[in-house]
Amino acid sequence: MSADKDSTSIGMKEKLAIEGGDPVRSDLLPYGRQWVDADDIDAVVKVLETDWITTGPKVGEFEERVAQYCGARYAVAVSSGTAALHAACLVAGISRGDEAITTPITFAATANAVVYCGGKPVLADIRDDTLNIDPEEIKKRLSPKTKAILPVDFGGHPADLDEIRAIAAERGLIVIEDAAHALGAEYKGHKIGSLSDMTVFSFHPVKHITTGEGGMILTNSKEFYEKLRILRHHGMVRDNGESSQDKGPWYYEIDSLGYNYRLTDFQCALGLSQMKKLDRFVQRRREIADKYGQAFAEIEELVTPTENEGVKNAYHIFVIQVKTELLNANRGEILKALRAENIGASVHYVPVHLHPYYRRALGHRAGDYPRAERYYERAITLPIFPKMTDKDVEDVITAVNKVMQYYRR
Ligand SMILES: *Cc1c(COP(=O)(O)O)cnc(C)c1O
Repeated sequence: MSADKDSTSIGMKEKLAIEGGDPVRSDLLPYGRQWVDADDIDAVVKVLETDWITTGPKVGEFEERVAQYCGARYAVAVSSGTAALHAACLVAGISRGDEAITTPITFAATANAVVYCGGKPVLADIRDDTLNIDPEEIKKRLSPKTKAILPVDFGGHPADLDEIRAIAAERGLIVIEDAAHALGAEYKGHKIGSLSDMTVFSFHPVKHITTGEGGMILTNSKEFYEKLRILRHHGMVRDNGESSQDKGPWYYEIDSLGYNYRLTDFQCALGLSQMKKLDRFVQRRREIADKYGQAFAEIEELVTPTENEGVKNAYHIFVIQVKTELLNANRGEILKALRAENIGASVHYVPVHLHPYYRRALGHRAGDYPRAERYYERAITLPIFPKMTDKDVEDVITAVNKVMQYYRR
């Protein structure tokens, strides 16, 4: 191996080619992708041949199936995970002047949903091990304006839901769990989906199951359930009961300001078909995570994801952290080197407070959330999705070893 590891004058691709010849793979392996088979396609086509291509019988069936799987009483399917977060924040009553506490390490949609309602997202730093919001940090951020807490089950590892629920109960706050990463995960023997006031899922193609775009809110509260259903459909009700007159079969009224957040019947048919495979999908993700965990345990320069006692991680993403103090490269250079090997490594996520919008809107600065920032500087997401073959998994391991060896001090 060359002693000259200066990468300023020569592109990473060329450099690794010089050092190691061909890339580990000839085609790019993405970090995540859907698995849609002929039976999924058949299910969609069947619905397209009927009269009901938007709201029809498959919507309720899909809702019932997910609610049953997760052990929740009610479910409302909507057009995306982001719509689900927005709707949940609205029915939680978040409005102008309210604060909602969430984590800086999430997809920005979690915080955006609070802003859509006129509320202010207040960030609380993460735990170093699970990378989830730290309940002790939540306590420091509580104020008389706090209305809700939005934990995220980051990467598929459930947040500290007991501790968070206890904080919420003491103050009368609503917990909206962003479980976009955690369909099929478990917390103390319970499936994620029934443990918070509302739990939100996404069915984007990189998530555990897909409907193309899609999302769902699960709840045990009949009140939230009924409000969510109305909100999804423009705030329309037949008749709010204020008048005793029969206004006719054509009549409806807008009783509250709602949205068109409906999910189509053919998307729900896809979701139903995908639900049959969910356990298998989660199992395969866990198998891959296990293989990575074993292979990377030997590499001193890497930190691998944890699975704490009493939880089952659903591994939406597999995030490693590189100990840059032991390497001759920063995270960005290592990520580019993996890309040069055709491993579609990525980063999840730019911390919420570092996005230009949130810097401007909330006056955040670098240094505000030190644990989140330290994580961000070291994080690399490796490919993990159920359709990966054993060969794909081996390629990732080979590429990580190759790059680590090259940059090792
Ligand atoms: C995917 C995701 C969302 C948004 O879901 P969409 O269906 O893409 O709108 C929200 N939060 C987190 C943590 C996500 O990963």
